[in-house]
Amino acid sequence: MKQKIISAIAVCIILSLHFISNAQIKTPQDFFGFEPGSDRNLFTYEQLVDYLKLIDKASPRMEMREIGYSPIGKPMYIAFLSSEQNISRLDELKKYNQILALDPEIKPKDKEDLLREGKVFILGTLSMHSTEVGPSQAAAIIAYDLATTNDPLKTEWLQDVVYMMVPCHNPDGMDLVVNHYLKYKGTKYEGSSLPGIYHKYVGHDNNRDFITLTQSDTRAISAIYNKDWYPQVMIEKHQMGSTGTRYFVPPPHDPIAENVDAGIWNWVSIFGTNMITDMTREGLAGISQRFLFDDYWPGSTETCIWKNVIGMLTEGASVRVATPVFIEPNELNVGGKGLSEYKKSINMPLPWEGGWWKLSDLVQYEITSTMSLLKTSSMHREDILKFRNDLCVKEVNKGLTQAPYYYILPSGQHDPGEMINIVNLLLEHGIRVYKLGNETNINNTLYREGSIVIPLSQPFRPFIKEVMEKQEYPVRHYTPDGEIIKPYDIASWSLPLHFGVKSDEINSHSADLENKLEEIKTPLDLSGELPESFTSVVLPVQYNESFMTAFRALATGLNVDRLTEDTSINGKSMLKGSFVISASGKTRSDLEKILGDYPLTPAFLNSPGELKYEKVTMPRIALVETYFHDMDAGWTRFVLDQYYIKYNVIRPGEFEKTSFAENYDVLIFPDVQKSILMEGKYGSGEDDYYVSDYPPEFTKGIGKEGMKKLMDFVDKGGLIISWGLSVKLFEGTLTISGEKEQDKEEFQLPFRDISDDLRKKGLYCPGSLVRMKVLKDNPITLGMQDEIGIFFRGRPVFATSVPNFDMDRRAIGVIPEKEILISGYCEKEELAGNKTVLLWIKKGKGQFVLFGFGPQFRASTHVSYKLLFNSILLNHE
Ligand SMILES: [Zn+2]
Repeated sequence: MKQKIISAIAVCIILSLHFISNAQIKTPQDFFGFEPGSDRNLFTYEQLVDYLKLIDKASPRMEMREIGYSPIGKPMYIAFLSSEQNISRLDELKKYNQILALDPEIKPKDKEDLLREGKVFILGTLSMHSTEVGPSQAAAIIAYDLATTNDPLKTEWLQDVVYMMVPCHNPDGMDLVVNHYLKYKGTKYEGSSLPGIYHKYVGHDNNRDFITLTQSDTRAISAIYNKDWYPQVMIEKHQMGSTGTRYFVPPPHDPIAENVDAGIWNWVSIFGTNMITDMTREGLAGISQRFLFDDYWPGSTETCIWKNVIGMLTEGASVRVATPVFIEPNELNVGGKGLSEYKKSINMPLPWEGGWWKLSDLVQYEITSTMSLLKTSSMHREDILKFRNDLCVKEVNKGLTQAPYYYILPSGQHDPGEMINIVNLLLEHGIRVYKLGNETNINNTLYREGSIVIPLSQPFRPFIKEVMEKQEYPVRHYTPDGEIIKPYDIASWSLPLHFGVKSDEINSHSADLENKLEEIKTPLDLSGELPESFTSVVLPVQYNESFMTAFRALATGLNVDRLTEDTSINGKSMLKGSFVISASGKTRSDLEKILGDYPLTPAFLNSPGELKYEKVTMPRIALVETYFHDMDAGWTRFVLDQYYIKYNVIRPGEFEKTSFAENYDVLIFPDVQKSILMEGKYGSGEDDYYVSDYPPEFTKGIGKEGMKKLMDFVDKGGLIISWGLSVKLFEGTLTISGEKEQDKEEFQLPFRDISDDLRKKGLYCPGSLVRMKVLKDNPITLGMQDEIGIFFRGRPVFATSVPNFDMDRRAIGVIPEKEILISGYCEKEELAGNKTVLLWIKKGKGQFVLFGFGPQFRASTHVSYKLLFNSILLNHE
């Protein structure tokens, strides 16, 4: 009894402290000077973080923790919101999460305790797409509400759940968008598109990076569910267009991922159905389900569903950033999966009727959907925790009882650096990876010591299988024998195929193998000790890491050469094109530093005198990037930066005042429409242009004068590397103006892009891996295997012709006639058979390398990187 009295007094003290602190917390309106979500008002990332830190300090219901940095270096956070008691024992609750997620053998009594004591952790990642401002603007209101509420229902939810709010998934982009909006606010360009991408490198594709984890913000978020907090529920918050449904809630539409357990989809439906019910009851109209958004591809933040998290997304209808829009009732429309008419339907039972749509509406929808998420998690607390551990048990058992049982990456890879990349990436994903301590024989194949083994019997089995196997698109039809449901995004992501690593799927158990496994606990590195004395190192041309090291050596000022013939060095065979890096005296320490990051063992030499080689110089590179949310250019910048390749970014509008011939050796044109490059407009031809909504200073194209500069560059020996749609720039009649009128020369390069014809005949390839035969003994293909998988989207495809005058061409890469598709989905693939997709052209002293595929697609196609790097190093004048 006495104890009860004491605790009652304690509660009173806590409550009174609590009320004092509530009084200290400024409302969002007082802090920002406006109500978040009010028309034409936005706060920046720093202002949001400052406000949340204020709540963190004053409220025992919230705790902020740093989780990493954005690509340009802004700190990122999780704001934990829950009851005071839960917040005070976050780390203990975190341990419960880890056990439930990873331990398939919890004793029944312990499991009972965990289910009784554990809380549902909900990870919410807000506004990764920075023009979709609603969720991050609503974050301030939600945090304030949860930290101060006395509402008995909400207080009860907070006993059961911990809401882990990442207030902004993309801090860099948020500031870019908010500052752009405020700059043009009150002008006629208010609400215009942000020029460039809302991220250091990848823009909207930040939601495609969750397999390859190339960006620091992706890694920070992914680590939350891979190896830190193991939340049971996750939601990513987005916006869509203005004239469709007002809000999308789960479940998604077909197709759904084959490897993800049925239970995940069922839970996703429960959350979504409660959301639409709660939102409709609150008077919010226009909510849709099973519409447009499918869930078969990994790469988005929702990739956590392959790791047993109940993961989902919502999408709100956009305003013009923060400016209201008026929607005429007859402008409302839907189309595509799940809803074909904007009418009352089972997937949209209460259509919105049109009229003004404001940021405050969007914020209200955000708040209500978030509260519903908390409510559902609270209602089903114990079931959700139980489901998480049951699924762990189930997946581990599947790995023991269903093939495949292991993936093996045999030692002796063509590019062992990429094998290391896969191992280290899987470790970051929270996957257990092993190496063979001794050789073993499985089904008459000998696997040597050092081969990598990834057993499937792991909690994250769905993820392992998804990224290690080749992809087969889950074909579903709208009606029997009717149209197929087309892929929303790409159809291939297999790590071994995309990285160029041999991987074997093992469909039988091997006790011998399991006895020889040694777990890899720290990032794999296969380099050895540096010898006492050496003057040069030789790095094999087959390894991407060798290119990275050579580029870095060049950037550091070291001497770099390439072998001009195949050579044997200390018993190791080194192929033509391998890099020789030399250093002595004070540059020696530079070389040692660089080699410290090389994860393989080079050949060391004391005198390179005997070798036949030629000097490598780094060309002066310009990369063309438009202001039109040019993600492919952004990814290219990322790859060039990662590989220490220096470049300048040139905008199309700058062409006419740039002396390319004097200042550059290589021009890179990533995948972007010709009309955007030439005219700064979208469209396919002069009658078909439409004007963008960028402020006009960002829409200047190359134009006639710029094109003259470009052709002068070619005439004087420049090298152009181009892929995707930008290749169209070089098709048809081109003109070199020359110094005088009589020097003017019209010509056509000896190729046509025939992809439009092929598409009309039925070729459809939404982003899959297809086979390409690689031309041997050519400077562009040094270090390449005879055949690789290229990331192909059906365009461009080249038909070459016998050239005139001072032109020449070589088909460097050709799709074979049969067995074209390796991974993904393709219709009428045979139409691409025996067609050229990598082409070298010479015009006088100038050169072109034209790709029918992105050699660096989303920094995920390491298998074709060398084609780009060798092209950059082609001899230049
Ligand atoms: Zn989005």
